[in-house]
Amino acid sequence: MKKLRIGHLYPKLLNIYGDRGNIITLQKRAEWRKIEVEVHEINSGDVWLGEHDIYFIGGGQDAQQVEVSKELNRHKDFMTSERDRGAVFLGICGGYQLLGHYYQPHDGEKLMGISLLDAYTVAGNKRFIGNVTIQSNIGQVAPDKNFLVGFENHSGLTYLQGETKPIGTVIVGNGNNGMDKTEGARYKNVFGTYMHGSFLPKNPMFADYLLELALGERLEPLDDTIENNAHDALINKAY
Ligand code: GLN
Repeated sequence: MKKLRIGHLYPKLLNIYGDRGNIITLQKRAEWRKIEVEVHEINSGDVWLGEHDIYFIGGGQDAQQVEVSKELNRHKDFMTSERDRGAVFLGICGGYQLLGHYYQPHDGEKLMGISLLDAYTVAGNKRFIGNVTIQSNIGQVAPDKNFLVGFENHSGLTYLQGETKPIGTVIVGNGNNGMDKTEGARYKNVFGTYMHGSFLPKNPMFADYLLELALGERLEPLDDTIENNAHDALINKAY
């Protein structure tokens, strides 16, 4: 039986607005298909447990990002090699920002990211808070018009460069920077998004998209009636 290894990066520091729900979704959707799952929490100072199929890093306040920036950069070379061998990454908000080159907060030093994404973030003067609906551009990842839904709360403005492309176009909300209508980012199998909520429980096809990338195989569909009702409720709320 295939085993799925999930690395949860710095949950003691980056885990706001229910981001842990993304780990639970990945774990349960694999286990419901009789796939064995190992979830390793990796916190500051921990010895790393080798390669993983999926890495997840959640969001957090500027203060917590300072420590995570230092920690992540101790493992930059390893994380780059993990990206380049095809491991899946999902970063939410503050975690997303640190998968890019840097995050420059309003006050204090520039927080260096690990450049898995060709993107950078600078703090804006306005806080973006509210529901988000985007139209995804990465394959069919929703049963409707390919909408992905979530909740944003960030002041960081993220700009994409080079071969790093958005995961979708903003229909409701602000997305990466409130200006260019882009939301999230993807390069190779590294994904970032500003959508908390948690993100994956309300976007089950996207969760399966990540699982199929990580496992290298197609998965049998599940009954997602409840999940899709939650998904649709957010879309209806937004329109
Ligand atoms: N501190 C970052 C910002 O305000 C990220 C916030 C978050 O993770 N919700 O942009």
